[in-house]
Amino acid sequence: MKISVIGCGYLGAVHAAAMASIGHDVVGIDLDPDKIASLSAGEAPFFEPGLPEILKQGVASGRLRFTTDMSEARGAAVHFVGVGTPQKKDGYAADLTYVNAAFAELAPYLSSGDIVAGKSTVPVGTAATLTPIVESAGATLVWNPEFLREGFAVKDTIDPDRLVVGVPAGDAGETAADVLREVYAPAVAKGTPFLVTDLATSELVKVAANAFLATKISFINAMAEIAEATGADVTQLAEAIGHDVRIGRRFLGAGIGFGGGCLPKDIRAFAARAEELGRGESVGFLREVDAINLRRRERAVTLVLDALDRDVVGKRITVLGAAFKPHSDDIRDSPALDVAVRLRGLGADVVVTDPQAIENARRQHPQLTYVEDRDEALRGADAVILVTEWDEYRRDLSPEHASSLTVGRVIVDGRNGLDAAAWRAAGWTYVGMGRP
Ligand code: NAD
Repeated sequence: MKISVIGCGYLGAVHAAAMASIGHDVVGIDLDPDKIASLSAGEAPFFEPGLPEILKQGVASGRLRFTTDMSEARGAAVHFVGVGTPQKKDGYAADLTYVNAAFAELAPYLSSGDIVAGKSTVPVGTAATLTPIVESAGATLVWNPEFLREGFAVKDTIDPDRLVVGVPAGDAGETAADVLREVYAPAVAKGTPFLVTDLATSELVKVAANAFLATKISFINAMAEIAEATGADVTQLAEAIGHDVRIGRRFLGAGIGFGGGCLPKDIRAFAARAEELGRGESVGFLREVDAINLRRRERAVTLVLDALDRDVVGKRITVLGAAFKPHSDDIRDSPALDVAVRLRGLGADVVVTDPQAIENARRQHPQLTYVEDRDEALRGADAVILVTEWDEYRRDLSPEHASSLTVGRVIVDGRNGLDAAAWRAAGWTYVGMGRP
């Protein structure tokens, strides 16, 4: 099938390459000429495992190309729109400037019978406002929210947990759902749940899923706060409640909390939208979820301060991680960098290392010192804080090896990922989050 993908960022570039990998003829379109040049050369403009391989294959096969020219969307049967929906600069709501512009730019190239499938995460009601522009071209608008996880984006796109397609009522909607089934034929053939809903439900499914995940993380972080006041251990608590299948262990990792280009802005946009709808109190708890999450970053800084007897000025502190999570170079709203910046603001000599995210981090926070090599970053440190759970730090760094590099013996485990007993046995002051 001929497909266009508008917006080739973390979502769109993967979507375009994945659609080509399952046999479609795909054109990816983005405003950013550098991104398009890199993608056209078969090179991923960001770190995402598995993306370089399918990009190269797609470009070499001739089934995948990229352009900045929107007119090349003409002739595609399905147009996926995956442009950004960041938080507004002056509030919590989503900034729909890019979505509105993308639809306006695409509209002249739509033909009767085309399907436009929104993939961006949008406030409920957005599809309804965009429907007239699509329908005036004789095309049909559906919403097909994306649930991919950065770091697993290729797998999640080709082989998702479920597919959700919001369609308008009537024959056009039914036909569009059938076309989307065809687009995702390999996943559908495998028996992947394919849920057809109305437009509003499909928009809500995405923000509800993110609200739930954020709430789960903040719940365990709230328990970490209580654990801190009582001498309890939140990691044991998480394990104990996680055995209950109704609760489940995943997303119960207490630590410095969530970040990234989705969860924080999505829960804020959801709360803002609910207020516009006069239902602010229904999701009022999301403000608390956000507040708990942000408090954990502050808490991590306090733990470092306390471990260094509140004297960090000029102390060398190695920050292990910059990306908002491992297997990604994404630093949008990264708790790791937030902690690094705060420590630096307190006068510490902060050295940040990360296997993939240094370039992005340096662009956003040039005031920090970056060292690519983990061991070089650790050399001479008075204290170390683990903030992104890369295997290089969590699994592969032994306390004995670290001892051969650092001056001090203080490690703050912002992700509760290290073996506390092993670090203590090696003579370190180990400080976890929500743990005695
Ligand atoms: P991103 O910032 O990485 O990518 C957005 C891209 O859209 C950019 O490359 C930008 O240049 C391009 N763009 C903006 N306006 C355009 C226009 N008019 N025409 C063509 N291209 C245009 O953002 P992202 O992380 O890919 O997220 C995109 C959307 O997908 C957001 O709504 C996000 O919430 C949602 N989403 C993201 C993820 C994720 O893990 N990144 C997962 C699910 C959903």
